[in-house]
Amino acid sequence: MIIVVKQQREQKQFDNLVKWIKSQGLEIDISNGSHSTVLGLIGDTTKIDIDLVRSLDIVEDVKRIQEPYKCANRKFHPDDTIVEVCGKKFGGDNFQFIAGPCSIESEKQIIEVAEAVKAAGATFLRGGAFKPRTSPYAFQGLRENGLGLLLKAKAETGMPIVTELMSVKHLDLFKDVDIIQIGARNMQNFELLKEVGKVKKPVLLKRGLANTVEEWLMSAEYIMSEGCKDVILCERGIRTFEPYTRNTLDLSAIPLLKELTHLPVIVDPSHASGLSRLVKPLSLASVGAGAHGLMIEVHNDPPHALCDGAQSVKPEQFEDIVKSVDVMLPIVGKVRGQW
Ligand code: PEP
Ligand code: MN
Repeated sequence: MIIVVKQQREQKQFDNLVKWIKSQGLEIDISNGSHSTVLGLIGDTTKIDIDLVRSLDIVEDVKRIQEPYKCANRKFHPDDTIVEVCGKKFGGDNFQFIAGPCSIESEKQIIEVAEAVKAAGATFLRGGAFKPRTSPYAFQGLRENGLGLLLKAKAETGMPIVTELMSVKHLDLFKDVDIIQIGARNMQNFELLKEVGKVKKPVLLKRGLANTVEEWLMSAEYIMSEGCKDVILCERGIRTFEPYTRNTLDLSAIPLLKELTHLPVIVDPSHASGLSRLVKPLSLASVGAGAHGLMIEVHNDPPHALCDGAQSVKPEQFEDIVKSVDVMLPIVGKVRGQW
């Protein structure tokens, strides 16, 4: 349920309303938008008499929310959520590039790539330390050591870092990570989502391999209902019948999500296609569809990458993508994050 409160109101009446809602065992998400204040009621609202609330002087409107996601719902929070990380913003008119290798392979590799993508315009460095691989015999990432190297690259370049958490037992190792990534394979690992929500660090939530938009938003809800409001959604392609590409980029999800949720939406064109030559066109299509950012796999030596070489672009290709995106951004009314 949402309660839209009049702009002209007495503070005391407002405080009394908030107190009464809480006394009903409900939590409240207060969104002070530019045009109205919206109280989002979280919990079992079946006992609330909607007509009684509507009759209050300070209440403009009351609506029951049909969708099962509440905190993530645009109706709860009409304005875009801006997720600010180390002074860089996701959401609204802001656009950010997250770039880096699929996995951290060595100190030289991660620092070389970090310096190159930073110079080209990336504001965040990505790199997997704990890798979710289909085969247990494939490279699993450098794990703790990889995280150490990523932190070193952060210290040397000043770039905030994004890396995937696969298990609650590694959470302590992630205290200096700026954005915790929840990968496609863990989008519905509900225990992991709950624990991540408690940490109150920004979370990059990738779409599951074969999950609907509503299931994805329900996963965001798991994180948000634990108190973390800084969730960034990342469309990374879904599984379809098409074998030419690794996945199929669901471009429609971007404008659709903008209607359904206030959370920022970015796109990973690398995992969406699996082919480096498709990364640029899919990046531009994503910008056109309204994405708030791109996460792109960049490797200094793709043919020898230990993971996802075929979809990794070289630093110079990344630079070319940034330049083309820059041409499009004024058309879609966005501004790229700068150093
Ligand atoms: C990744 O970004 O490193 C990754 C494994 O992606 P996904 O979870 O989307 O497959
Ligand atoms: Mn990868």
